[in-house]
Formats: sequence, C-alpha cells, structure tokens
Amino acid sequence: MLQRRRKLWGWGYEDGQASREEAEQVGLGAREHLGFGPGDYEHPPRLEDLELPPPRIEPPATLSSICSTDPFERATHAYGKAYRDLVRALRGRFDHPPDVVAFPADEADLERVLDWCADAGAAAIPFGGGTGVVGGVEPRVPQAAAVTIDLGRLDRVLDVDQLSRAARIQAGATGPGLEEQLKTHGLTLRHYPQSFEYSTLGGWIATRAGGHFATLQTHIDDFVESIRALTPSGAWESRRLPGSGAGPSPDRMLIGSEGILGVITEAWVRVQEAPRFKESAALLFDGFEQGAQAVRALAQSRLYPSNCRLLDPGEAALTSAAPDGRALLVLGWRAGWRARSSSAATTAGRRASGEASPRAPGATRSCARPTCATT
Ligand SMILES: Cc1cc2nc3c(=O)[nH]c(=O)nc-3n(C[C@H](O)[C@H](O)[C@H](O)COP(=O)(O)OP(=O)(O)OC[C@H]3O[C@@H](n4cnc5c(N)ncnc54)[C@H](O)[C@@H]3O)c2cc1C
Repeated sequence: MLQRRRKLWGWGYEDGQASREEAEQVGLGAREHLGFGPGDYEHPPRLEDLELPPPRIEPPATLSSICSTDPFERATHAYGKAYRDLVRALRGRFDHPPDVVAFPADEADLERVLDWCADAGAAAIPFGGGTGVVGGVEPRVPQAAAVTIDLGRLDRVLDVDQLSRAARIQAGATGPGLEEQLKTHGLTLRHYPQSFEYSTLGGWIATRAGGHFATLQTHIDDFVESIRALTPSGAWESRRLPGSGAGPSPDRMLIGSEGILGVITEAWVRVQEAPRFKESAALLFDGFEQGAQAVRALAQSRLYPSNCRLLDPGEAALTSAAPDGRALLVLGWRAGWRARSSSAATTAGRRASGEASPRAPGATRSCARPTCATT
C-alpha cells in the first residue's frame, strides 16, 4: 500500500493540496472579507525546485537503514506549523533543514542514534507530528549538524490496565492512532487538541498540550501517570503512581520540556471508558459579551459540557458558522448532560440581555431573539 505523504509546506497531505483554481477562489474570498489582499497567487514549491544546503554529516552504515538524507524528508522535518513556518515553506525557504532524519523503530534504535549524535557532536531533535508552533523542531543550530529523530514508528498502545483504567502508549502514536487502538478495549484518552490528527502523545507531553475538552481534565498533565525517556545520561522513568504528594513531581520536568531533556519514548496515561452517547448543539448570541456570560454560567454550574467553544462574531462570520454579527457558542455533551447544560446556558443568555425568552421544550431551533438559539 502506498503511504500518503505530508505536504511540503503546510497542513495536510500532498493529495489534499488545493488546485490552483481552488486556491485562487479562496484568495478572492479572503480579499473580499479583509478588504485588501495580495495581487498575486503564490505557488507552493515543488520538491525539485528546492535548494537545500547539503547534509553536513552522513549516518554510519549501521544506521543507514533507519536514516534518510532524502530532500523530501529533510524539508518536511525542517519546520513546525506556525504561520511563519508555513509562509517560509510556501516560499521554498528551507535555510536550516536537518542534515539527517532518523526513524527509530524501537528504543534500541533510538539509543544507537543518540550515541551517534553524541559522538558526532550533532544536535538531536525529537520530532512527533511536527505541529508545534514555537520553533521546537526547527534545527536552527548553525554551529552543529542536526539529526531530527522522527518518533512516528513508535506508535503502539503497549499495555492496558483495565482495573486502574490506564494505558502504556508509545510516544509517536498520533491522536487517531492511539484512539483507534484504545477503542478496541472500549477506552479513550479523550485528549483532543486541535492538531489531534497529526500530533503525538510524546509531542503533547513535551509541549504541555491543552485539549479541547471544555471541562474537567483538559491538559495532558491531567492524564500522565508516568513517563519514560532516553536522556543524555541514559534511560529515565518516573514511578507509576495513582497520585503523589511527595515533593516536586518528576513528571513535571518532562511535561513541557520541548525535547531538551531527553526523548520521551512512552508514557502511562489515565484513560476512560469510551462514551456511548454524544450530542452537540449551538447557541447564537447577539454579541460576545452575552456569550461569555453564558459560558461563565456553564463553567460555574458544574455541568461539565465536553465542548464549550465561543466564537466571536468576527470568527463566526469568517468560518460561515453564524449569521453576520452573531456570536456562536458550540456545546457538546457525553451521555446525559445535554439538557441541563443547555438550559443553564440559555438562562444565562437571557439574563445577559434582561429578557425572558420562551423555550419550546425538546425542540432544536435557531432563535430570532438575540439571546437564545437552541433547545
Ligand atoms: C492547527 C494547529 C492546532 C493546534 N491546536 C493545539 C491545541 O488545541 N492545543 C495545544 O496545546 N496545542 C495546539 N497546537 C500546537 C501543537 O499541535 C502542540 O504543541 C502539539 O502538542 C505538538 O505535538 P507534535 O507531536 O506535533 O510535536 P512536534 O511539533 O513534533 O514537537 C513539538 C516539540 O516537542 C518536542 N517533542 C516531540 N516529540 C517528543 C518526544 N517524543 N520526546 C521529547 N520531545 C518531543 C519537539 O522536539 C518540539 O520541541 C496546534 C497547532 C496547530 C498548527
């Protein structure tokens, strides 16, 4: 089976690249929306047009089967996915690509790669999904060669502890990849950053990622029980404890470390029973202020909606999610929380505008009144 390749310059896969006509249409729409815009459409670069600096080191023969100096691999591991990264890549500017990209299949491979980096004086840069936005994967280390270590082959759920509801998962597992495996056990990690599709467990831990579950546990910190990493001074592993009050948490050293202390190889994480029922609804508000009051009421109600995202009128209009001038509150529920949450938000919205709007029980509708929309 042919493996799909990621785009050279942006989010998504090569085969999902917009055609020139589609891109020009988007450009026109953006120009209309913003009231100004570029005169020309810029073409994404072709691989054969890139001028990458030659690699400064070659992997030893013993590592050649898991290392690559292929221009596609070097270019697609040169940047994260911040706006500035996309612009530089779209313009074909790859000034500091990694010299070599390594793809370890297990910890033994990883150890050999790290040993080689240490001997060669090369910078070793862990790479998960490459969705980071703060330059963490960018090999801007002009004084040394750089070896980017792609953890993508360490992608398995290794162990499931049904009794304690925990799972041992390799660091390179992506959101969909680990959820697919957990699903076979009736479980979910329930951590959904917006970059879920490509980002990885190791990346989430290294960046202290926040998921989009609106309430209760939302940060990856909430899920980590223990971490295993290969550091410059050898393997390191924190004790797996249900909770600990003994001094500073060693996990906290690795959580948010951006890969500078070692390469995370796996972690025990708390998992949950997969939800059987899911529901969603959207509420329209006259303005951001009213929406914000509804969100506060929900947050303080302890009803714990699983999704609670308020789009201001500008963002709602840009994404065509709401009529012009309206703020949109997107809500999600698991199991039976919907009715109570929705009614709390609607009541808060009504209170915000000082009116008592009627509600048709059980009906889903978009309300013409400024404050309520559904239920
Ligand atoms: C469209 C978009 C939406 C996003 N949404 C969110 C969001 O909702 N919440 C959020 O928190 N962030 C979000 N981000 C930022 C980013 O997705 C997160 O920081 C994510 O956790 C990065 O994971 P990754 O696997 O892609 O890591 P990478 O980008 O590959 O790496 C990020 C950093 O972690 C290090 N690293 C990666 N893997 C390891 C490892 N195994 N061991 C040690 N270090 C490692 C890297 O060296 C680098 O410093 C978003 C980014 C984009 C572009």
